[in-house]
Amino acid sequence: MVQRTKAQSKFSREFMKPTTFLAQYLYLPLAVVTLASTGIGVRAQTQEKSPASVEALVYSTMPSRTEHRPEMALDNDKATYFKSVYSMDDGDVFLVLLSRSIPVQALHVLSGDSEGKTLLTDATVETSADAVHFDKVAAFDARGAADAMLADKTVLAVRIRLNPGKEVSALALRDITITSTTKISHVQLGPGRGFYDLSEAPDLTDWARKAEQQMEEFWPDMAALLYSDRFLTPNMVQVVYRTGPDVTPVAATGGGVMTVNSAWCRLHPEDTGLTVHETAHVIQASSAYNPVWLIEGVADYIRWIKFEPQNYHVRINPATATYHDSYRTTATFLAWCELHYDSRLVTKLNDDVRFGKYTSDRFRQYCGKDVDTLWSEFIAAYRADPAYIIVPQVAPEDKPRPLPAVKAGTSKPVDLSKSYNLRGIYKDGEQFRINGGFD
Ligand SMILES: [Zn+2]
Repeated sequence: MVQRTKAQSKFSREFMKPTTFLAQYLYLPLAVVTLASTGIGVRAQTQEKSPASVEALVYSTMPSRTEHRPEMALDNDKATYFKSVYSMDDGDVFLVLLSRSIPVQALHVLSGDSEGKTLLTDATVETSADAVHFDKVAAFDARGAADAMLADKTVLAVRIRLNPGKEVSALALRDITITSTTKISHVQLGPGRGFYDLSEAPDLTDWARKAEQQMEEFWPDMAALLYSDRFLTPNMVQVVYRTGPDVTPVAATGGGVMTVNSAWCRLHPEDTGLTVHETAHVIQASSAYNPVWLIEGVADYIRWIKFEPQNYHVRINPATATYHDSYRTTATFLAWCELHYDSRLVTKLNDDVRFGKYTSDRFRQYCGKDVDTLWSEFIAAYRADPAYIIVPQVAPEDKPRPLPAVKAGTSKPVDLSKSYNLRGIYKDGEQFRINGGFD
């Protein structure tokens, strides 16, 4: 499910797992190899070098465009700025994560675009020493600026979010200045990541870690499958594990927050891939939840066809099913259309949905046949062979030849005549010679 309602995007959580990415950013001892001038040989020496600077990763739960990338909030150029494509909800976050904590003297954040519009006035700046627990250090004023004197406060992360219950048409950030004796030498967009919160479900640590690893590893593939020109998909989502009457039975995503029903996780230890479906919703970054069947069909296509095809199964009732049944039925239909008509169909349809350009005529445009005709063909194919509906057809002679089982440690002869016959081997060799080269 995907939704952008206040109830689902309530923000009251802290980040967990603060240090995983830091492992990649640890400062490595500098190995210095010196050629000895005496000619005796090579002398190697390792120096511990004290890091003089840090690196920063930038995260946003909101999509942007290439001309207003998140890093532009930290480029020391007030002419350039970050701007989200859609509205900012009180669950949305803009986050700067340093490669290690540093003492900070002052923070200055200036919102708005280059014309001084889209000011942020009902929001706060927070810092954290561990990227788990955050303290409010400044509020935005009527001019859209926030300033904090921090007196060498230890800072690992800086985040900007709206005050509870607020929403603005877009987030625009012109400048974030972190004044420190330690230089920030490099700023870049962080790799896609879920920041999970288990404060209400600490028993699900293993489940959440596995889910998070899966969604992060597959994030770049999802971003590529759901690519739009000059569009930067969100690279962050907050994953909250909890249960209760206000939580959907499985999971819901919207407004920067993925809420996973912890009761479901306890009953379904194997179902961690559901977070991949939800992450697809984060990356889809659709302007509206419409059409629902296609958004859900694409999210299931991402999970079942692309992420875990080994666990995929579908059962369709040919008499009653429709292409707009959502979820796996739609996912299977999309995969079948890609196999036979347009291998980039899902990317194109997602782009249409993302920007509100989808019409049912898109199928005709991309596949050369209208969606009802395609569906009729799909159902005929499904009736004929449901097990191989989205498996490419392989000619019998190209299928692997089964081999007989061999019992190790015996001298019993094995009959290979059914697996290899002289004629087959001869034919292969004949082909090779006829072509006069490799085939
Ligand atoms: Zn969904």
